[in-house]
Amino acid sequence: MIRADRKQRILVVDDMPANIKILGQAIRGRHEVSVATNGRQALNLAFNDPPDLILLDILMPDMDGYETCRRLKDDSRTKDIPIIFVTSKDELEDETLGLELGAVDYITKPFHLPIVLARINTHLRLKLQSDLLEELAKIDALTEIPNRRQFEERLAFEWQRSQRGGHPIGLIMIDIDEFKKYNDFYGHAQGDECLKAVAHCLAREIPRSQDLVARYGGEEFVLVLPDTDVDGTVAVGRRLCQAVDAMNLPHEKSSVVDHVTISVGAAAAIAVAGQSSTELLLLADECLYRAKEGGRNTVWSMVGGPHKDAPP
Ligand SMILES: [Mg+2]
Repeated sequence: MIRADRKQRILVVDDMPANIKILGQAIRGRHEVSVATNGRQALNLAFNDPPDLILLDILMPDMDGYETCRRLKDDSRTKDIPIIFVTSKDELEDETLGLELGAVDYITKPFHLPIVLARINTHLRLKLQSDLLEELAKIDALTEIPNRRQFEERLAFEWQRSQRGGHPIGLIMIDIDEFKKYNDFYGHAQGDECLKAVAHCLAREIPRSQDLVARYGGEEFVLVLPDTDVDGTVAVGRRLCQAVDAMNLPHEKSSVVDHVTISVGAAAAIAVAGQSSTELLLLADECLYRAKEGGRNTVWSMVGGPHKDAPP
């Protein structure tokens, strides 16, 4: 989660140590600073741990600032980092090219330090605002847990990682049992409270920080469990089922028991080339369907065909 009060980090790239020294000294204290003396080093640093802003020299041996900027803008990890060119190239064409490449600002040397600092502050403030908006866009407004968009991004990321490393991914789909009857009987305001309570319960129960629980839509939730095989996924599913059961939220109209319960579909796979994560999602959804058909308040998984777990 992004914190509005965290210290932002600036990467200063210049082949002249004297320039780095002047800028570094002026910025340090207010912001964190990392430095690179050539384009390749800058790319390595930025890809591995993206900074909030890059001050980029243009005239450097081997890879110049324009090329470094192009590569940063071409990579999904770094394309949104604001870049300010700080350069002795003061022709209008130079500045135009720099801005066309996607830089947010262009400062010519010899620079006046207070102006550089003021511009840095403006771009850092904008960066923080866009980071916060980006973060908000991935949170479900009602339950305040990750939304479907964040789930889809994470699943795509983990699917690629599974393909490279051969680790399994566990996927769980969850549906609140007979939620329509709950809404009809208790009203929508109470229905919203129920969704929140279940969401927070699921979020509390996920075992590890790398696991993700998200609201998929309506009364459906979904979990991504990296490095987890089908047995591990079923075990998590059972724990979630038991945890929601144990909240003992009254549900007078439920045909299952007298309180709120969930049905859980659990699937896992190792991603192979040519296969998409949608197949895993469909498999988990099929298991969820069977859990509902099989009496609800339970976990179903598919290992060489459907099997029902003992009720929690
Ligand atoms: Mg230079």
